[in-house]
Amino acid sequence: MTSPLSLFDSHLHTPLCGHATGTPREYARAALDAGLAGICFTDHMPMPAWYDAPWRMRLDQLAEYVDTVREVQAEFAGRLTVRLGLEADFHPGTERFVERVLKAYPWDYVIGSVHYLGAWGFDNPEFVAEYEDRDLGELYRHYYALVEGAARSGLFDSIGHLDLPKKFGHRHPDASAALRALDVIAAADLALDFNTAGWRKPVAEAYPAPELTRAAAARGISFVLGSDAHAPGEVGFRFTDALGQIQAAGGQVVTYAGRVRHA
Ligand SMILES: [Zn+2]
Ligand SMILES: [Zn+2]
Repeated sequence: MTSPLSLFDSHLHTPLCGHATGTPREYARAALDAGLAGICFTDHMPMPAWYDAPWRMRLDQLAEYVDTVREVQAEFAGRLTVRLGLEADFHPGTERFVERVLKAYPWDYVIGSVHYLGAWGFDNPEFVAEYEDRDLGELYRHYYALVEGAARSGLFDSIGHLDLPKKFGHRHPDASAALRALDVIAAADLALDFNTAGWRKPVAEAYPAPELTRAAAARGISFVLGSDAHAPGEVGFRFTDALGQIQAAGGQVVTYAGRVRHA
């Protein structure tokens, strides 16, 4: 068993996204208290103004985000490694905007997440009724086609919360679309965000599910641990369980620094 002392939490938000609480300093303090070796802030990146604006920092807040993380980095130096990352969105048509933001600063780690199917924010509890109007097989085929696009885009280091449409309990009818996406993710040499937030949601299962964790590990895909914390109390959430699931699958845990993977 890997000691929790060597672990990083590489999926953390900040209040700049408009739906997280606690200062970045408080997240760092919580990580120290949880015995973690490091953290990587990955707040929701700016996107074109027409896309999902209330749920992310604005472009004119990006410098403030970077400065804030740098301050925490300096304050905790020697006690906790603090890295600078982003949770990016993959939404066809926004790639050039995303590319510009990714070039603007020396990021350590960039997660690529799919949060929208067309205009529908499918992980937003406000719009959960839409699932009743959808064919689940078709929904998952659409979703994983976008995940494949994210993997092929060359923009990201990992794929965020792989099987996210299960969040409210709508599990995939079969794993075939997910397995095809894992083939693409492996070929593109991306990692997976092993995201423990699923254990806090109605589905009560981390992303990815145990069967997909095994399928990913079998393809040589490694995992980046993330709590997806939107509050300091969520930092390092259920990391012992996460490690158990990854190790049972024969998977490897990695982190990213300077957009380079480290075992
Ligand atoms: Zn969020
Ligand atoms: Zn996300």
